[in-house]
Amino acid sequence: MTDIPSSHPRYASLKARERLVEGVRAGITSQAGLIAHGRGEAYDYLLGERTLEEAREAARVAAAMLLLADRPVMSVNGNVAALAAKQVKELQERIHELRVSRGMKEPAFVVEVNLFHRTEDRVKAITKVLRDQGVVGVLGEQPNARVPGLDHARALCSKSGVASADVVLIPLEDGDRAEALRAWDKHVIAIDLNPLARTSRAAHVTLVDELTRALPVIVEEANELEHRSQRTLASMVTGWDNPAMLVRVLGRISDRLTSLGADQLDPEGI
Ligand code: ATP
Repeated sequence: MTDIPSSHPRYASLKARERLVEGVRAGITSQAGLIAHGRGEAYDYLLGERTLEEAREAARVAAAMLLLADRPVMSVNGNVAALAAKQVKELQERIHELRVSRGMKEPAFVVEVNLFHRTEDRVKAITKVLRDQGVVGVLGEQPNARVPGLDHARALCSKSGVASADVVLIPLEDGDRAEALRAWDKHVIAIDLNPLARTSRAAHVTLVDELTRALPVIVEEANELEHRSQRTLASMVTGWDNPAMLVRVLGRISDRLTSLGADQLDPEGI
């Protein structure tokens, strides 16, 4: 990887790009994944590159859904594996522990590799990255079910994964698949920097936030919910209004744009 000095003002962003470029070289990330990342970065600029209160609230409800679910599943693609394998492992582990301590019948939080641009080599490479990081029970190499309403390889999934899940976390997903999962009666949690994306609008709960920031926030919020009753968690989920939250995020972007003064746009201030 290129040696980027940690003092560079765009260090985190440049590192993320490096990880994705490396992911393409290693056969983990698709080339189209680089473009998807660019769209995300643009929205992150507009959001101020921080976790908004709206995303934290959504993370709390997402955590409640993951703790209450009969069979929660996280769907992982090449961008997620390249950028956030460690955060995926930490989330899987903590949600599993909390579900065990709550006495859930099936406490596992299943991780399944699902690709828009599916090749068997890519699924294998992503599975290896996740396993090497400590993610357990990774599904996706032998799909034996299909998401209804989708064509070709995009529809493939596993019977013991997405097909039998009641709650599916999709950190980065294409809008078609997000809509198809919802139409299949799955409860969908999305992470997407673009509040206008079909994925963001199709989900029951959307964290409008950057993936590597958002996954640890779900862990933090799940920890806060450790001793809350099932009933309290259920009322958090039923009380959630995702479209209203998306409107608030759009308001934040619009306020930020209109309040940016000439002083902030002065080259001296950049
Ligand atoms: P949709 O089909 O949902 O309307 P889209 O065509 O933009 O939207 P894709 O190109 O399939 O969707 O996926 C890219 C999406 O992922 C973008 O909405 C982008 O904001 C989001 N994204 C990319 N990188 C990140 C990231 N690191 N964290 C969060 N979101 C991201």
